[in-house]
Amino acid sequence: MSRILVTGGAGFLGSHLCERLLADGHEVLCLDNLFTGSKSNVANLLKNTNFEFVRHDITMPFYAEVDEIYNLACPASPIHYQYNAIKTVKTSVMGTINMLGLAKRLKAKLLQASTSEIYGDPSLHPQPESYWGNVNPIGPRACYDEGKRCAETICSNYFSQNGVRVKIARIFNTYGPNMSANDGRVVSNFIMQALRNEPITVFGDGSQTRSFMYYSDLIEALVRLMATPDSFMGPVNLGTPVEHSMIELAELIIKLTGSKSRIAFKPLPNDDPAQRKPHIALAQKMLNGWTPQVSLEDGLRTTIDYFKQLL
Ligand code: NAD
Ligand code: UDP
Ligand code: UDP
Repeated sequence: MSRILVTGGAGFLGSHLCERLLADGHEVLCLDNLFTGSKSNVANLLKNTNFEFVRHDITMPFYAEVDEIYNLACPASPIHYQYNAIKTVKTSVMGTINMLGLAKRLKAKLLQASTSEIYGDPSLHPQPESYWGNVNPIGPRACYDEGKRCAETICSNYFSQNGVRVKIARIFNTYGPNMSANDGRVVSNFIMQALRNEPITVFGDGSQTRSFMYYSDLIEALVRLMATPDSFMGPVNLGTPVEHSMIELAELIIKLTGSKSRIAFKPLPNDDPAQRKPHIALAQKMLNGWTPQVSLEDGLRTTIDYFKQLL
């Protein structure tokens, strides 16, 4: 049994990770400032005596005794991370420094939730870990993309200079139950619009692509990544190497919900990446043959059921 800190533990991915770690028999300390997360995501865990919730902002120092840290705290949806761009940078940079300082003092392992956004609008397709990316440093997405890039820099420096056992996960678009209905990301937006028979807001001409992974495949990968040898820092891509355009996604969600919604085209946000698909050979090699199991259609069905019950 380990004592494990999950920052951002009341968010979409964090709440599933807390649940998985408890099921594996660990003690879990869930830390969250509830900016985009919600206590309802972890309400069912509170009765477990191995679970503790602490309301705290990781831009402030934090002291506790733990063996492992999963650093997930950071808003992930463009509308939320752009709401207070400076705060988003502080969370990725100052917050990650604090969690690395904690890991250093405790000789604990730290897994950093990085993102495919560090590749920006990629000029290389699909994206291997060796690709350096194409990011506008002063664009609307920069607070998130550059914040996460700097977090990777700090992680790699604590790894090489301070001997902190760090793991960097570059997560591609992940969806599933516990996403907030007003999260603003594409899967939750389309499903809520379809269930309400409202227009499906496709930005641009909808030809831009993303690769979508169901949350359970990601959680399995994160747990396996934490268990890799101390000499392995990554970064490692975690995603499903299957690409869909936003038009295809909209049509699939309309079909699965039996919705009367029509597609409504809206302006494409600035710097919106045109395509995104991971190379996952490194993950497959380092994570004992890990490979995503859940098809987009199956994952969407479960996610649709979750949002139905919210309505
Ligand atoms: P989310 O918004 O649901 O969760 C983020 C959580 O962090 C929320 O509970 C929020 O309240 C908390 N938080 C934000 N700032 C904080 C701060 N300063 N101090 C403490 N808590 C804070 O998003 P998610 O999809 O669950 O993303 C979790 C992590 O995974 C993020 O770091 C995100 O960048 C990364 N990620 C997610 C995806 C994805 O597709 N879901 C893709 C790439 C990377
Ligand atoms: N820190 C923390 N908890 C700890 C240890 C450190 O929050 O248990 C924070 C501390 O506030 C510091 C940061 O982590 O600002 C980085 O710590 P480190 O020891 O690397 O550097 P320094 O203390 O020299 O700034
Ligand atoms: N998108 C869309 N309609 C929406 C929300 C998003 O067409 O209501 C598009 C968005 O422009 C982007 C893709 O869907 O091209 C994925 O957007 P999301 O915000 O989910 O993630 P990210 O752009 O960070 O990968």
